[in-house]
Amino acid sequence: MDYYEWLQTEHRALKQAGLLRHLHTVMSPPTSVITLNGNYVVNLGSNNYLGLSTHPSIISAAASAAMVYGAGASGSRLLSGNIECYTTLETNLAKAKGTEAVLVFSSGYVANTSIIPVLAGEGDLILSDEFNHASIIDGCRLSHAKKKIYQHCDVEHLKTLLAEASGYNRILIVTDGVFSMDGDIAPLRDIYEVTMKYNAMLLIDDAHGFGVLGKDGSGTVAHLGLEGEYIIQMGTLSKAIGGLGGYVAGKRILIDLLINRARGFIFTTGLPPATLAAADAALNVMRSSRNLRRQLLKHAETMKVALTNLGYTLLPSQTQILPVIIGEPQRATDVAEALLAEDVFAPAIRPPAVPSGTSRLRVTVMATHTDSDIQKAIDAFATVRHLT
Ligand SMILES: *Cc1c(COP(=O)(O)O)cnc(C)c1O
Repeated sequence: MDYYEWLQTEHRALKQAGLLRHLHTVMSPPTSVITLNGNYVVNLGSNNYLGLSTHPSIISAAASAAMVYGAGASGSRLLSGNIECYTTLETNLAKAKGTEAVLVFSSGYVANTSIIPVLAGEGDLILSDEFNHASIIDGCRLSHAKKKIYQHCDVEHLKTLLAEASGYNRILIVTDGVFSMDGDIAPLRDIYEVTMKYNAMLLIDDAHGFGVLGKDGSGTVAHLGLEGEYIIQMGTLSKAIGGLGGYVAGKRILIDLLINRARGFIFTTGLPPATLAAADAALNVMRSSRNLRRQLLKHAETMKVALTNLGYTLLPSQTQILPVIIGEPQRATDVAEALLAEDVFAPAIRPPAVPSGTSRLRVTVMATHTDSDIQKAIDAFATVRHLT
């Protein structure tokens, strides 16, 4: 089979399984209503939960930084790329997270695939929740540590695996704080307790909790009344913060080790000044935006109640992420297309992002949706209900 035939075979197989993905072109800023493929649609597919991507003072901070520092960082951070925007952002992030130090990476994906191989390697064990984000899965693969999966949020299963574990140098437990495709919150208090009992390490991916949960949006760890000190918290600046970048928050000595060992930190160019300045300005706005957080969770509750009343099957989310379970991938795509015809964008999520048989619409609300946006979305779900 030549190269081109192979491409065609792979492409056909994806299509037949209902798993072929397409890019949509967005022709507007990423607001609560967007222009998608030329149509004006209610956006239920954004991680820009607080609407900060288009906040005027954040855009203006990005523009000023570009004017002062230029368009790019010009080098990796250990060489010439550690512009002072990094120092400002990392200091402020550490304050927001209540930890000794923070290290910023190019993205959340890069953060996870970089941190995990530093924390665990050959001879170590990683215990990972079955619904953890793909970047965690890839980080585990890169680490060469032994990996065992525990059932979703099942602390008893985690305990069993810990009790069975012997002969490993170190054990790392890793979990999403808020699960990205499910919207539920990990039982971190119990997980933290067993972490301490077995002298393990705990890494929490708080991509979707940061900016939304906890005092001043500081995240899931604070939301559950835990101290950040002994927990390794990673998160991203691409969701509620509305920009780009990943981070790790923890002890100063951990950050020092990452600077020396994390390959995704060392061997890549620093982020552009505008991106760093936008994140810093957004962090500032985020921390004082209690009303936006309240509005976000209020919209989520309205949507959850309405979709449940319409007879949709939702997983038990406690956050702004509402998984509407459809089942088969093709059907999920069909429902998403039908919603789009009603000018509502809710992306279909299919394997391998979610387990087989649980293809879903991942509905996310934004604090900046109006009540009438939410009502329009609910009406569209009512119209397409017969398809499910
Ligand atoms: C989005 C996401 C990431 C990756 O973050 P990016 O900044 O988009 O690369 C990591 N973990 C979780 C749980 C996420 O949802």
